Amino acid sequence: MRVCSAFTVLFGLAVAANVGAAWNVTNRVIIEHGLLSIDHSKSVQEISAAQAQGGFKADHGVGLFQNRIKTELAFSEVAVSGKRMALTTRISTSPIIYVARELPKDSCAYQLVLGHELLHQEYDLDVLRAMPDEIRNLSQDVFDTAEIERSGTLNQDRARNRFFQQFNFVYQALGAMRHPVIDSPESYRHLGGLCNGELAKYLPTPLIDPAVAKRSK
Ligand SMILES: [Zn+2]
Repeated sequence: MRVCSAFTVLFGLAVAANVGAAWNVTNRVIIEHGLLSIDHSKSVQEISAAQAQGGFKADHGVGLFQNRIKTELAFSEVAVSGKRMALTTRISTSPIIYVARELPKDSCAYQLVLGHELLHQEYDLDVLRAMPDEIRNLSQDVFDTAEIERSGTLNQDRARNRFFQQFNFVYQALGAMRHPVIDSPESYRHLGGLCNGELAKYLPTPLIDPAVAKRSK
């Protein structure tokens, strides 16, 4: 994911679009962290296919970190006349690391990949720690309070859609500022050179500069 500047710009516009909302909007954020599970049953091919459908695109097929996040938004109180909205956001996570079954559990390469994916989990935890403040901020802007006042009622489906759209956007943007740090060509070259080059055959070859490969022999 190398689109972090685009995310930042769009996010800035979304915030700037907020005009004079005199509403008092609160959002209580609860995060339930699931236990990390480690799956060693998938092949390099299967992991690569999973990456193509999402996850972290710059990653390599020997390992993958994914966090399946379930988010619920509850409208605890909506008082149109008092211009008050009290919300609760509940986030439950299910983090999982895949390490390709081609890498034996007692191998150097297995430890290398596991360590790399654990760093991705650290970045994700970092993002999740930032989310409550982000959610409270976006909650100030995302609901069409003028429309609520006009109609005298809150369209919960529409409100949820807008909320989740912004939620996903911010979560991905914060991740895009972190994960690519360890998915750079330099990082892969570094990994490829460790463990007697055990991993190099699985890493994306276009990233390996032949001149550098020759020097490292
Ligand atoms: Zn990675």
